[in-house]
Amino acid sequence: MANKTTPYCPYAFFQGKFVKTEEAKISIMARAVQYGMAVFSGIRGYYNQDKRLLSLFRIDDHYQRLLNALKILGVSIQYNKEELKEITIKLAKKNKPQTDVYFRPYAYASSLRLSPNLKEDSLFVFALYSIPLGDYLPTNKGLSVLVSSWQRPADNAIPGRGKICGAYINSAIARKEAMDLDFEEAIFLTADGHVAEGTGENVFIVRDRVLITPSESDDILEGITRKTIIQLAKDNGIPVEIRRIDRSELYVSDEAFFTGTACQLAWISKIDNRLIGSGKKGKITAKLQDLFFRVVRGEEYKYSGWCNKIKI
Ligand code: PMP
Repeated sequence: MANKTTPYCPYAFFQGKFVKTEEAKISIMARAVQYGMAVFSGIRGYYNQDKRLLSLFRIDDHYQRLLNALKILGVSIQYNKEELKEITIKLAKKNKPQTDVYFRPYAYASSLRLSPNLKEDSLFVFALYSIPLGDYLPTNKGLSVLVSSWQRPADNAIPGRGKICGAYINSAIARKEAMDLDFEEAIFLTADGHVAEGTGENVFIVRDRVLITPSESDDILEGITRKTIIQLAKDNGIPVEIRRIDRSELYVSDEAFFTGTACQLAWISKIDNRLIGSGKKGKITAKLQDLFFRVVRGEEYKYSGWCNKIKI
């Protein structure tokens, strides 16, 4: 059974069946390993101990995005969205987690031949595992963030719209640069110098009580948490602008935060050593963060359609 001390849940879905997670292994020669020819996703399951329910947040949207990423690559998998959801629910029931968990769907090129050949490997293999997961980035203190010297790849180089595995080397080098310089996370600019996103998060700022985030054409991942926050803001009378953000606009913003399935809503107190607002959690950030945490746990009736609750 998964608990806080185990790094992963006991069962995974691999090559069409449920196996022990330790047994879900692929070859060193696989194209997925050699060339990053794979796509992935991340879905959170929020555990309610009293009701013994696991609430999967926006699972439909996550699998739709995974299927879209495969479409971008021009490949497919053998399962449709309903089947992918069914596999995920079955895995949750098999693992019986008693903490919040994170599901990692993975679709990969399994051929052992040389060359990054998507034509030969046009049927990717689907696999899924899960791990217990609390906070990925701290959510109760402000983050100190670096604007990276590394750029986000343009859509016509490596599309950021899908979670394409090989592309994450870009995130890894930016995160290393930030950490080497004692920052906690990085923000990428696009090739033409506009704000894109974090290494595994979308970014929002607040100026004069308006919530602002880069557009889908700024080489970002179309984040599901981003979409959620935009909706929650609009429903609560917070004006939202989806537009280009300059680097210097980050510095003069009143509030700033990251969103993502892993980080949830993590606020930023400093960017490139400039204090954001007063350096404390801003009012709009606090309001959206509180609401978000209730929504994902299925505590806000209005948004219960986003939560797929499973009896554990
Ligand atoms: N941008 C990148 C590069 C990411 O990897 C993620 C994490 N999936 C996000 C943004 C946030 O997306 P989501 O809210 O769908 O998790």
